[in-house]
Amino acid sequence: MTPKVIVVGSCMTDLVSVTPRLPKAGETIHGSKFFIGFGGKGANQCIQAARLGAKTAMVCKVGKDSFGNDYIGNFAKNLVSTDFVGQTTEAATGAASITVNTEGQNAIVIVAGANLLLDSEDLKRASAAISKAKVMVCQLEIRPEISLEALKMAHSSGVKTIFNPAPAIPHLDPEFFTHSDIFCCNESEAEILTAVPVNSPEDAGIAGALLLEKGCKLVIITLGGEGCVILSQSDPTPRHIPTNKVKAVDSTGAGDSFVGALAFYMAHYPHLCVEDMVKRSNYIASVSVQTAGTQTSYPRRADLPQGMF
Ligand code: ATP
Repeated sequence: MTPKVIVVGSCMTDLVSVTPRLPKAGETIHGSKFFIGFGGKGANQCIQAARLGAKTAMVCKVGKDSFGNDYIGNFAKNLVSTDFVGQTTEAATGAASITVNTEGQNAIVIVAGANLLLDSEDLKRASAAISKAKVMVCQLEIRPEISLEALKMAHSSGVKTIFNPAPAIPHLDPEFFTHSDIFCCNESEAEILTAVPVNSPEDAGIAGALLLEKGCKLVIITLGGEGCVILSQSDPTPRHIPTNKVKAVDSTGAGDSFVGALAFYMAHYPHLCVEDMVKRSNYIASVSVQTAGTQTSYPRRADLPQGMF
């Protein structure tokens, strides 16, 4: 199988404890519920694309431990190729220890672990598949220089690139912009990168214009229940693409659902215009916020109306 969507990025095991309140330093409290979830921005985006029917491969690194084994099983279950999933004894699988109280406030500790050991050799092993893919997706939960190297590899083979600068870093290497066909971020990431506070579609248009100036071909700024704003080198007037705002049960990973859906459409429905792809991605992400969990809330093809495909 030749993957059409290749995601180079992170895998994290979410260890979630639900408690009546967040513990103070040095305190031990009883929680009411515990569960383990699959997360990490790269893996989330890849799983969403795969659930829609994209032929996907993940390039990532997990630990040689039970969480790593389980994650590989999770990819296989979702029909994501694991040919380029490495396992290392040098670090543990990335983990996020999340404490969430009944009011929805949380305290999170992320240990990126094996994600930070993904290196140039891992990219070289995947280079033949990368050069034949339609779309590559990268984020910033692995070492930024590896994300940039992956984007450059894809770009030099004419593979379309989606870069999601999350979590945002203020001084992003300018080459990230010039190697992104689509630069897709949320409001707070846009603000960190441009110093423009983004609280409305109009603000997103102003921040987006600054991002466009840095060299990417097309900018998408997602705006939660307000949908998103798009603008491009060829059409620099910002366009607000609204969505049907829904009451969110759990919006964790909505941005990743959006990016994964966009990658699916770019790879498998290249004849659609960007606006159509974005409208459909908005819809898919809106479905994801209506159920609890991250990957567990991502819709499959069969859950969606026929007109989406
Ligand atoms: P997260 O960090 O939780 O993954 P994010 O901040 O990166 O999310 P958002 O901009 O909040 O991403 O949301 C991404 C997309 O999800 C939006 O562009 C929209 O399509 C959809 N979305 C999010 N919240 C809602 C909502 N309440 N109603 C409808 N669609 C929503």
